Amino acid sequence: MSEPLQYRSTRGARHAAGIEEVIAAGLAPDGGLYVPEALPQLDAADFSAGGSLADTAATLLAPFFRGSSLAHELPAICSEALNFDVPLRPLSYQPDASVLELFHGPSAAFKDVGARFLAACFRRLRRDDDAPLTIVVATSGDTGAAVAAAFHRQPGVRVVILYPDGRVSPRQAHQLGCFGDNVQALRVSGSFDDCQRMAKAALNDAPLQQRVPLSSANSISLGRLLPQMSYYAHASLAWWREHRAPLNFIVPTGNLGNALACVWVREMGLPVGEIHLACNANATLSDYFDGSPYSPRPAIATLANAMDVGAPSNFERLRWTFPHDHELRLQLHAASVDDDAIRDTIVHHAREHGEVFCPHTATAVHLLDGMGVTGLPWAVVSTAHPAKFDSVVEPLIGRKLDVPPALAAMLERPAYAEPMAVSEVALKDWLDQRLGVERAAVAS
Ligand SMILES: *Cc1c(COP(=O)(O)O)cnc(C)c1O
Repeated sequence: MSEPLQYRSTRGARHAAGIEEVIAAGLAPDGGLYVPEALPQLDAADFSAGGSLADTAATLLAPFFRGSSLAHELPAICSEALNFDVPLRPLSYQPDASVLELFHGPSAAFKDVGARFLAACFRRLRRDDDAPLTIVVATSGDTGAAVAAAFHRQPGVRVVILYPDGRVSPRQAHQLGCFGDNVQALRVSGSFDDCQRMAKAALNDAPLQQRVPLSSANSISLGRLLPQMSYYAHASLAWWREHRAPLNFIVPTGNLGNALACVWVREMGLPVGEIHLACNANATLSDYFDGSPYSPRPAIATLANAMDVGAPSNFERLRWTFPHDHELRLQLHAASVDDDAIRDTIVHHAREHGEVFCPHTATAVHLLDGMGVTGLPWAVVSTAHPAKFDSVVEPLIGRKLDVPPALAAMLERPAYAEPMAVSEVALKDWLDQRLGVERAAVAS
């Protein structure tokens, strides 16, 4: 039996942690991001043909959980979390191109995969006498809803969502505020980067952590990143069995959590070919991959709002994976797609092919359209259902979209979000006061 896999921070190799600690903490103690000591290596032959997504996930993730208290629970965690379809659907009008649809979970975006996996792990890690855990999550729209849906009414857990007021779609805002119970939404008068900075500041505040045990569920949490590898492994292995060729991916990218999962699957030895990052007008990554020095910057608002990120957190993990710029630039391509191109792509595909894409997916479709004949099989990653972004998509295509049932149920509930200033101190005070009120209520 081999040793458990150890995890270390991207910012310092001193502190080694096991997977339980990594999942419970979210962020490493030094403010860095947890990474495995080395990426495990697997082979296509390690996976059983005809298995479900949950089966693929259990095989893929086993080395990451080896020797931990969660190891024997992993198959159950995977089947609990990954209980919806992630189909690779061929595009009828484009030979050798498919859409990997990641939006068939409860909140209609791919974030359900990571959030549900994290919730399934937390359920098993928690002991009855543990103090309540508060999950602080900054969201550009979709993470918050997925985390809220995954943890809603879970005993011993509270969820505090920070989102940029006015920069998420009306339906996203409704979804974030509709849960209640153990879920609270804060609408911050700033950008997603502001929300992320505030969340990180709270998580890094040791005295606050003493009073209010906090954890993160952002894409900085490895407990979200790891399960996202499952659908890349599942789709590329299915393709490999049928065609004996690697599958190539175009991934709509903001904070780099989804795309990094794809990169790691390839690094583990599975048959993933080229990986292209589709960014919106926030061009931090496309500029870097075009040869400019890496320069994070303030986010600008676009139609693909869940990708409005100017300082992608997971770049730190990408740098850990490929420490040298010249080596890293060989691994990926990235291109920036502006709002006009997003609109044109949505209109064109609806009119010509009857295919309706969300604005995020449209960035990737736009890159596919521009590639011409490559002779390679491409999978465009579809990150959200277009009905989540009805206020953008419906006026463009001139008709109403059907709403998936889980989303429709959320939209029927009333919604409320509390206003919050862009201030790390204001958030910390809010968390302290909330806990104070709850303590007083428990004591009386
Ligand atoms: C979060 C999100 C993205 C960006 O994913 P990252 O992991 O942050 O790169 C793209 N599309 C949608 C719909 C999202 O919710």
